[in-house]
Amino acid sequence: MFKITLLPGDGIGPEVVDAAVKILKHVGERFNTEFELNTCLMGGSSYDVHGTPLTDEVISECYSSDAVFLGAVGGPKWEDLPHHLKPEAALLKIRKALGLYANLRPAKVYTPMLSYSSLKDEVLKGTDVMIVRELTGGIYFGQPRGYDDEKGFNTMIYTKEEVERIARTAFNLARVRGKRVTSVDKANVLEVSQFWRKVIIEVHKDYPDVELNHMYVDNAAMQIVRDPKQFDVLVTSNLFGDILSDIAAMITGSLGMLPSASLGAKYALYEPVHGSAPDIAGKNIANPIAAVSSLAMMLKYSFEMDKAAEIIEEAIEAVLNKGYRTKDIYKEGDKLVSTDQMTDKIIDEFERIFYNQAINVFTL
Ligand code: NAD
Repeated sequence: MFKITLLPGDGIGPEVVDAAVKILKHVGERFNTEFELNTCLMGGSSYDVHGTPLTDEVISECYSSDAVFLGAVGGPKWEDLPHHLKPEAALLKIRKALGLYANLRPAKVYTPMLSYSSLKDEVLKGTDVMIVRELTGGIYFGQPRGYDDEKGFNTMIYTKEEVERIARTAFNLARVRGKRVTSVDKANVLEVSQFWRKVIIEVHKDYPDVELNHMYVDNAAMQIVRDPKQFDVLVTSNLFGDILSDIAAMITGSLGMLPSASLGAKYALYEPVHGSAPDIAGKNIANPIAAVSSLAMMLKYSFEMDKAAEIIEEAIEAVLNKGYRTKDIYKEGDKLVSTDQMTDKIIDEFERIFYNQAINVFTL
């Protein structure tokens, strides 16, 4: 039995989390696994009830679960609140409370979506990059920081422990993927990057089966749009990862399709990359694929249910192949579907693929 804390949040968050939960129920039935789900408030919906976007009770609940699944938070209703009460403040608070130091953002292109990218089909086809961004250190947190009338300053600092643990995350991931890691830094200019590179090389000694190369961040930005297929796992610091993961995301097409995972030593949180999309909330038109794909990541990385994750990904691809599209990715000639209909189509394909594979095993 796995215990999951659900944090649907605001806007389209609850709609896309519902979609993922529907699929999770089928996964549970087909793979004989029990999932205990506990839904808690976070973001604006929590502020409205408790006067804070994230209560200590919810954090305690997350501590006692095997994984946390988040929709999205935020919206115009809460925009004028003081910074620490805004829904988005809950995101930083939960990442910190759960010690989530590794942010995983896969940039994978579904073949039927090739034409949605600004890149040429032949450049993009087959791209499957996993960006591993260090999330709790680096220039966003380094001290001293500040500004006065004459100057502004931040500090980019990494400790050995911080680099070691993100390096291990990247090498372990590469082991179950394409066995290649590219570490991205700016070691030609920054001492902190020279240190980063040194530690990465040291950790690599424990992973002789994984190939390691290094790339300067400016070159990496170019290479992601020039030839994204060259990358398997790309590991980098907080600042560089922030920028590179958005570049990698955009080459794949739509925001409504991008999943993410944030991992720590003990806890893990899964969420779609998109926000709460208040402009389309409550209309049953949100694209649930980012959330469903985040669910697949949860099954794979937190529960080691690789097969179930694989079938979900195949089901998404099959639905897209058949031309079904939510409004955000709709083009003339496609079959326009609602959030619920897209979810049902994914479930149909999940069942079909599951039974086909079961029959194949049975008839071997
Ligand atoms: P957004 O991602 O919510 O929306 C950007 C655009 O993409 C909108 O036009 C929206 O309709 C569309 N979109 C996003 N997800 C979609 C989906 N699944 N299906 C179809 N269309 C989709 O970004 P934003 O508009 O800049 O932010 C809206 C709110 O979300 C803000 O309050 C922001 O702070 C918050 N936000 C939260 C998170 C999070 O919870 N992790 C992340 C980003 C933004």
